[in-house]
Amino acid sequence: MNCFVCGKKKEDYQVWTNKTVIGATYDSEFQNKDIIRDLSDKSVICHDCIKNIEKQI
Ligand SMILES: [Zn+2]
Repeated sequence: MNCFVCGKKKEDYQVWTNKTVIGATYDSEFQNKDIIRDLSDKSVICHDCIKNIEKQI
């Protein structure tokens, strides 16, 4: 599967699903980021991109 943000191919264990993101981050600022809000049920985001977003907050 490919990361929704950077488009790189990642293994299952390297990505977070929408549910994981919401479940793992209780930070509403993080969840309100445009990228996170655009994350659909079927999209995944990789850990690298999660870290990048966290840095921007
Ligand atoms: Zn990524």
